[in-house]
Amino acid sequence: MPYKNPEDEIKWRTSDFGRKWIKDWNLKNKEKLREYYKKWELENKDKRKDQHQKWYKKNIEEVRKKHTEYNKKYREIHAEEIKLKAKEYHKRNKERENEYAKEYRKNHPEKMKEYYQKNREKILEKNRNQYQKTKEVIKQKEVDRRLKVYNHYSNYDIKCICCGERHLDFLSVDHINNDGYEHRKRGLSSNTLIQWIIKNNFPSGFQISCMNCNHGRSRSPERICVHQKELSEKILS
Ligand SMILES: [Zn+2]
Ligand SMILES: [Zn+2]
Repeated sequence: MPYKNPEDEIKWRTSDFGRKWIKDWNLKNKEKLREYYKKWELENKDKRKDQHQKWYKKNIEEVRKKHTEYNKKYREIHAEEIKLKAKEYHKRNKERENEYAKEYRKNHPEKMKEYYQKNREKILEKNRNQYQKTKEVIKQKEVDRRLKVYNHYSNYDIKCICCGERHLDFLSVDHINNDGYEHRKRGLSSNTLIQWIIKNNFPSGFQISCMNCNHGRSRSPERICVHQKELSEKILS
């Protein structure tokens, strides 16, 4: 919309009607405008570069601030993803990182001491948490191993072979031929016995029984649990 008087044009451009008209026109001629800008930028490459550099120098502080803000926001939104990637990276480069950290600690004992003194509480807290965590992991592994062995010797229906007791805390691996003494002599506690069994690929000669039946068997001269004796007496009578 050409005006003879430039002041009139400015008035029109800044009026509500003018603004809307320009916006609509821009929207309608989006492709054309894009082509035009592209062509202009190609023809004025150096000028554009110069302009950009000047603008960048002038706004460097603001640009940096915007970048930091954007990065912060990005990290917030993609926190999980970043954490996972870092973990994967750490896993891939574990040995190298450990080696580097070891070397650093060796070469900077003063710095290490200083760091420790400064962050003593934090480090202790971290160590405690780490210890708790490993303890839990070890315990879980222990339970998993125990279940594996119990399942194997009870045909995936874990219960006492004699009385049917199902509570895991009452059950243990039992020697069919009562040679538990041999294992104890060799220093295999119940937990190490579990590991020994897995390591030796589940040898035969074991069963799952509860503490009561275990005692019952070991106390009887015939090595038969009271339950079984009662049962046979009932059948015989
Ligand atoms: Zn039992
Ligand atoms: Zn029994």
